[in-house]
Amino acid sequence: MREVTCSSAQGPPPLHRQQSAVTRHAVLRVCTVQLYPRPSDFPTSIHRLALSWSPGIVWARFLGETMSDPVTRRSFLRTVSGGAAGLALTTELSSRALASSPGWKAGLARAIITPQKSLWMAGYASRKKPSEGVAQDLYAKALALEDQTGKRVVLVTSDLLGFPAAVSHNIAARVEKQYHLTRGELLLSSSHTHCGPVIGKMLGTMYPMNPQQWADVEAYTSDLEDKVVALVGTSLKSLQPARLSFGHGEAGFAMNRRARTKEEIVIGVNQDGPVDHDVPVLRIDDKHGKLRAVVLGYACHNTTAQDMLQFNGDYAGSTQAWLEAHHPGATALFVAGCGGDANPYPRGSIELAKQHGEELGAAVEKALAGKLQPVHAPLKTAYEEFPVAFATPPRREELQAQLQNQDVNHRNWAEAMLKILDRDGRLPSEYPYPLEIWQFSNDLTFIALGGEVVVDYDLRLKKELGAEKLWVAAYCNDVFAYIPSLRVLKEGGYEGGGAMIYYGQPGPFAPSIEETIIGKVHDLVLRRTNG
Ligand SMILES: [Zn+2]
Repeated sequence: MREVTCSSAQGPPPLHRQQSAVTRHAVLRVCTVQLYPRPSDFPTSIHRLALSWSPGIVWARFLGETMSDPVTRRSFLRTVSGGAAGLALTTELSSRALASSPGWKAGLARAIITPQKSLWMAGYASRKKPSEGVAQDLYAKALALEDQTGKRVVLVTSDLLGFPAAVSHNIAARVEKQYHLTRGELLLSSSHTHCGPVIGKMLGTMYPMNPQQWADVEAYTSDLEDKVVALVGTSLKSLQPARLSFGHGEAGFAMNRRARTKEEIVIGVNQDGPVDHDVPVLRIDDKHGKLRAVVLGYACHNTTAQDMLQFNGDYAGSTQAWLEAHHPGATALFVAGCGGDANPYPRGSIELAKQHGEELGAAVEKALAGKLQPVHAPLKTAYEEFPVAFATPPRREELQAQLQNQDVNHRNWAEAMLKILDRDGRLPSEYPYPLEIWQFSNDLTFIALGGEVVVDYDLRLKKELGAEKLWVAAYCNDVFAYIPSLRVLKEGGYEGGGAMIYYGQPGPFAPSIEETIIGKVHDLVLRRTNG
């Protein structure tokens, strides 16, 4: 048996019945964390824990496997807050004491990636000039995790439209060389803000940029790669003991955007369309139980502010800023979900982006205050690129006809395709699709999909794998196209194939796309769970 006393400097003030539940709760959390500095010491049940209290000092006792002291616990609870509140306290204490799993190390780093000069902004064909100032700084952030076996991973999040394959490959190769992380141990995600800079050649046919503007983007992209590589290193250097826990919140502003008119499907508001309002939350505490970082997700386009000309992180940027303001010293990292066919609702201004950001922040806050489940080691990872097939590509004559199209984007696309045809004699028949999976023991399966994935994938995977311990992320590692489900592919519209010209792809995907991706997810999850 060991007894630990909270010192008066660190410890709580005397407890009175009038104190708020939050204060009492905080007091108890301090004590339990101080009592169990090592993973092997941590209790697996509230029944192994008893506390007693006297004015000015809180005592906690670890009673061991078989020992229990109901009298002490009863008297403590009666003293603190009376029977009914005490019962609530017990429940809360139980969830807090068991809410996070020890045995991890976590490291964090961040860098401002706001362009230092005016650049073309990503995501809209409607912009006719480059950026004009900054409404909110853009960040890249890194969370490094190390499990008890020494396995290390780094999650990078960013206020960007997306990392194209070429940029991801450059970063991953340098990270492997400098820090010895394999491809599956690095995860590059982006918030899909449409108020960030153009990256690499991504969506190149969309923008009316001159050669100097492209050169500026190239220089920015090169600098971004340097910053992200350095960020990974800094996060690994700052690894410190940590506890992880996972849970869910909910936020309601994501709206299906595939609206049906008489003729076609357009981007609008579809109140009856599928959507996922889940907010996955990974909490990272330090060894004292203090929040060090929170990773959150949401399946919705980051497009509230639409095509404004000032750099900003849209709702996801506001959520992260809001959470960091509420938890000084902590880092909030946003991971976009399968929101390919969802837009924020309502939208159209930076004020609405802030409003949605705060709603999402409050949803995370509620999850943090609730019952999160501990996330244990070990961590297993997998990364694979596998081919997804395109439908039969257009013929040369069809492309030549498109050169006369009224729409400049169609003309640009046809020109680019004809160049490929001239060079290679054929258009690509498939694309190497990136899939990454992080399996945290039996507690959390983190699936990172590439591209702008529609919500059908998310909903289907939750049905097939169970929603409770699952996180389905999109916009990871390579953003190169919309990823339609078979339903969306058949229905057509922007996400079904219309956007392929902006992405410089030869045409829509083949109908096999959904089964190919879902099949590979199951395959990798099975291998990570068993292997
Ligand atoms: Zn998009």
